[in-house]
Amino acid sequence: MKNIAVIGAGTMGNGIAHTFAQFGYSVSLIDISQVALDKGLGTISKNLDRMIAKEKITAADKQNTLSNITTFTSIPDGVKNAELVIEAATENMDLKKSIFKQLDECTNADAILATNTSSISITQIAAVTNRPDKVIGMHFMNPVPIMKLVEIIRGYNTTDAVTEAIVNVSMDIKKVPVEVNDYPGFVANRILMPMINESIETLYNGVAGVKEIDTVMKLGMAHPMGPLQLADFIGLDVCLSILHVMYDGFKNPKYAPCPLLVNMVTAGKLGVKSGEGFYDYSESRKAEIVAAMFS
Ligand code: NAD
Repeated sequence: MKNIAVIGAGTMGNGIAHTFAQFGYSVSLIDISQVALDKGLGTISKNLDRMIAKEKITAADKQNTLSNITTFTSIPDGVKNAELVIEAATENMDLKKSIFKQLDECTNADAILATNTSSISITQIAAVTNRPDKVIGMHFMNPVPIMKLVEIIRGYNTTDAVTEAIVNVSMDIKKVPVEVNDYPGFVANRILMPMINESIETLYNGVAGVKEIDTVMKLGMAHPMGPLQLADFIGLDVCLSILHVMYDGFKNPKYAPCPLLVNMVTAGKLGVKSGEGFYDYSESRKAEIVAAMFS
C-alpha cells in the first residue's frame, strides 16, 4: 500500500494525513471545504515545526512530508488511485453512508474503505457498499501524530486478510493496532464514556466538586488528565452523542447520560471548543474551574 486517501481535513483527518505522509505514503487529502483544506495543511505545517523544534524530525523531513500530500475538493478525483481510503468526515450516520456509497462507486474494486468513526457501527456503514468484506474501522486517537493507539474495528463481514492488511499498515506508521469487534462504543469509548458519565453523575449528586473529582483520578489513579477535563477536551456534545449510541445500542440504563451533561450541552457549554464546560477556557486552553456553577 502506498496511495492513501483521507476524507475530511479537520482535527482527525489532518493528523491522519500528516502521519501517513511522514512515513512516505502518497496522501490525497479531501474535504468539501477549501477553507478546511487550507486550515488542515496549516495545522500539519505547524505540527511539523513543533517536531523540528523537539529535534524529532529535520527541516528536510518536513518538506518531504508536505510534498507527499495533495489536496482535493472532489472525492472521485481524490480517491482514483487509492489502495486505502480513510474517512474522517463529520460524525453523522447519513453523511458517512452517502460517502461510503460514493466511495464504493468511484474507487478501485480492491481498495479497502476504512472509517475513523468514534461510535457509528462499521457493519451499518459497510452495508451500503458492495464490498462489506473490505470495510473496517481505523479509530485513531487525538492528536494523531502523537497518540500510539489505533483501534481496529472489524465489521461483521470484514475478512481476516483485510484486517491483517490494516494491522500491517498501522504498524508501518509506527502505531500500535488493537483489534476489536464492532459493538457500540467499541472498546475505547465503551470504557471511557461510562467513566466520564459517572464522574459527571458524582458531581451532579454533590459528592465532590470538579477539581476534587479530577484530582482523585489524576493523583489516585495516575490518569494524566481528570475525567471532567478530558470530557471538556473531547467536547461535551461528542460525549453525549456517544453515550446515546451506547444507550440505544445496548438498551441498558447504565449508559443513560447524566441530566447535568444533557443540560450543559443544551445550554451550549461544550467544553474547550465553546470556551466553557466544567472549566473556563475563555482566556486560555488551560483549565480554570467554572467556580460560579459548581462550587
Ligand atoms: P472535524 O469537524 O474537525 O472535521 C470534519 C471535516 O469533515 C470538516 O473539515 C468537514 O468540512 C469535512 N467534511 C464534512 N462532510 C464532508 C464530505 N462530504 N466530504 C469531505 N469532507 C467532509 O471532525 P473530527 O473531530 O476530525 O472528526 C472526524 C471523525 O473522526 C468523526 O467521525 C469523529 O467521530 C472521529 N473521531 C474524532 C476524534 C476527536 O477527538 N476529534 C477522535 C477519534 C475519532
